[in-house]
Amino acid sequence: MTVSAKNTSHAGPTARESPPQAPQVSEPEGSVVLEGVTKKFGGATAVDNISLHVRPGEFLSLLGPSGCGKTTTLRMLAGFEEPTAGSIRISGQDVVGIPPHKRNVNTVFQAYALFPHMSVAENVAYGLRQKGTAKSEIRERVTESLDLVQMRSFADRKPTQLSGGQQQRIALARALINRPAVLLLDEPLGALDRQLREEMQIELKLLQSRLGITFIFVTHDQGEALSMSDRIAIMRSGRVEQLDDADSIYDNPASAYVAGFIGQQNFIPGTMTSSLTVMESRFGSIRAAAPHDDLGAGVDAQAAVRPEAVSVAAVSGDSTSTRENQIAGNVIGVSHQGETLQFLVSVGDDQTMLSRVPRPNAPRLAVGDSVLCTWDAASVHLFPSEQATQAQADIARALSHPAPPTSSMSL
Ligand code: ATP
Repeated sequence: MTVSAKNTSHAGPTARESPPQAPQVSEPEGSVVLEGVTKKFGGATAVDNISLHVRPGEFLSLLGPSGCGKTTTLRMLAGFEEPTAGSIRISGQDVVGIPPHKRNVNTVFQAYALFPHMSVAENVAYGLRQKGTAKSEIRERVTESLDLVQMRSFADRKPTQLSGGQQQRIALARALINRPAVLLLDEPLGALDRQLREEMQIELKLLQSRLGITFIFVTHDQGEALSMSDRIAIMRSGRVEQLDDADSIYDNPASAYVAGFIGQQNFIPGTMTSSLTVMESRFGSIRAAAPHDDLGAGVDAQAAVRPEAVSVAAVSGDSTSTRENQIAGNVIGVSHQGETLQFLVSVGDDQTMLSRVPRPNAPRLAVGDSVLCTWDAASVHLFPSEQATQAQADIARALSHPAPPTSSMSL
């Protein structure tokens, strides 16, 4: 995202300054509440009736494919967009209609938007200078802020003399100088290479835990969201599909979309039996640990099983499976993925199963081997067939149109 330096310098009032006057309800400092928030651009709905309660000091990620409404949600929190409907409260204050610089939030963007002609220290000090803060206080707070991101020794350098990761640290220091109650981060690591990104993820999380500031982090990278967040809001077409911690999202996806969007899934089609936890497929019975509310006997369904839940074992000759949660097939691909080995198994004319096994425990298998794929009922989730088919199509579309490395949107 390109952004004018003017906009990134918005520094909300802090404990050192008096807050703007606006309707106040009794909610703690750092809480963010969206209720029934919708944003339309002309006839198009970018954000569709979202309700979210972000806890004070929480690291919450908005995760979803390009165009699902993450940035628009963040921009409404920052004050760069106003909702078409609904209410937004930050620290109990109704902020709808309040301009960005009067909200106790700050934003870090993917593009660092540092002033190239100013030193690092001058960049970090910019917001305070604009406010006419005393020079001695500015000096003290710039040092404090640079210390937070371990960049004090770079204070006199120009941004062009810094790496991408260092520039992003300076953008963070600038955003944190006023210690906002809430920091909004819009794909802030998107422009960094993979290794630096992973290092910065750890640093960001540590910084957030240390400061206790609420972080709302926009990303389309699930690894990033899973590794840093206390909770993740999975967004799809302007709505929140599930809001939960990483374990719950991974192990108990609320929909076929969440199941397929986070990690990978083997989807197996079939028809529900009267037992409601057993689906009959052309490969045999698939049993889940729990039924799905919308799946009655005779209804078309799909069972989702993660590759890491599927074991593969060699069998002699062509085998047909007779037990539940078991499919026979032939290995058609073996790939090394660092710590895991991935097996692609053909189980029918147009169906494959993916299995991922930690390397120390992985069986020695080669392409052409006959195998049995097996898994536990606890790792099976059942979804209505139509929902699962639509989800898979949406996910395939999202993956074929990944988010651009930088957004062309200007503030
Ligand atoms: P990305 O990851 O690509 O940044 P996103 O999930 O952040 O995507 P948004 O930028 O919030 O998505 O966009 C949501 C929808 O709203 C998209 O269809 C987008 O084209 C549309 N949109 C966003 N801003 C505007 C605008 N100013 N005018 C018209 N449509 C807009």
